[in-house]
Amino acid sequence: MEIEMRQVKSDQLKPKPEDESKLGFGDIVTDHMFLMDYETGKGWIDPRIVPYGPFEIDPAAMAIHYGQEIFEGLKAYRGKDGGIFLFRSKENFKRFNRSAARVCMPEVDIDLAITAMKKLILLDKEWVPCTEGTSLYIRPAMLATEPHLGVRPANSYLFFIIIGPVGAYYKEGLNPIKIYVEDKYIRAALGGTGEAKTAGNYAASLLAAEEAKEKGFTQVLWLDAVERKYIEEVGTMNMVFVIEDEVITAPLTGSILPGITRDSALHLVRDWGLKVAERSLPIDDVIEAAKTGRLKEAFGTGTAAVISPVGQITYKGEDHIVANGKMGELSQRLYNEIVGIQYGEKEDPYGWREKIL
Ligand SMILES: *Cc1c(COP(=O)(O)O)cnc(C)c1O
Repeated sequence: MEIEMRQVKSDQLKPKPEDESKLGFGDIVTDHMFLMDYETGKGWIDPRIVPYGPFEIDPAAMAIHYGQEIFEGLKAYRGKDGGIFLFRSKENFKRFNRSAARVCMPEVDIDLAITAMKKLILLDKEWVPCTEGTSLYIRPAMLATEPHLGVRPANSYLFFIIIGPVGAYYKEGLNPIKIYVEDKYIRAALGGTGEAKTAGNYAASLLAAEEAKEKGFTQVLWLDAVERKYIEEVGTMNMVFVIEDEVITAPLTGSILPGITRDSALHLVRDWGLKVAERSLPIDDVIEAAKTGRLKEAFGTGTAAVISPVGQITYKGEDHIVANGKMGELSQRLYNEIVGIQYGEKEDPYGWREKIL
């Protein structure tokens, strides 16, 4: 399918951020976006790159009422030589299609979506920042556009990709974050939509996150929905704990998001010969390990922050300091390795990196 291009006039391009070292997360978008429509019977039609701007949406559009919306999050990285790299981007679109299937939305053609994404990045390539710690965030998303007020899967959808330069996801950067173990609210139950990147999961998580933020925490750590006993994940990251010499993370049983950074980190630690377990880990074991000095490290994994060390875990009113509140050895090693591969500075034995410029 031919991708139509309608470019912004050169005298109407937006100004780029003046100081890249001050970039935050998610406030700036580039000059263009990719759009494509779907209609039952016709399939995907009219793929196009157009000037960035608001779209018109019917107040009865089904996404607004019943939450048929999915998204992805990935990045493009600027190498020291000016090159631009992607990291395992196909995995993001495969997951996008799995999310689509879970909420009865049509799948996209992965090759077309990736071609469109690359065209968009290259058109707006001046926006890919160069300063260390920065990248271009890529947000593919899909929503149900059919105007209809009864509950059923919609017959029309809009797929789009928007992009924008970002800095650190958390204001802490690589400084350890404080997390609050949530034992009242839950994020997702087995059989629910926890493993899909769909809007409702995030709406459901906001209240707990806000209450935790008021108490001074960066994120909440979710426990399982049935017993509030086993570790699930944090807001937008999977969680890894190092207890003695064992690297432990929750198994992909359906209620957590199967993170690509999680998968990359597991690949690396297995290759480094460390003992790895994907198993249900009771929060009581983590707290006990913290009290007895056996909890060596805890960290989150996710595209936005890569590796985010945890310096404090608070559970049932008690604070537990992890790794003396500093970034642990494995966290640092993983961060260096993954970031090194992403920015073209380290060898890429797994074929994760793709140079697009
Ligand atoms: C996106 C996301 C992650 C991390 O996934 P990555 O592919 O590593 O970016 C983890 N948990 C949740 C809930 C997420 O939305």
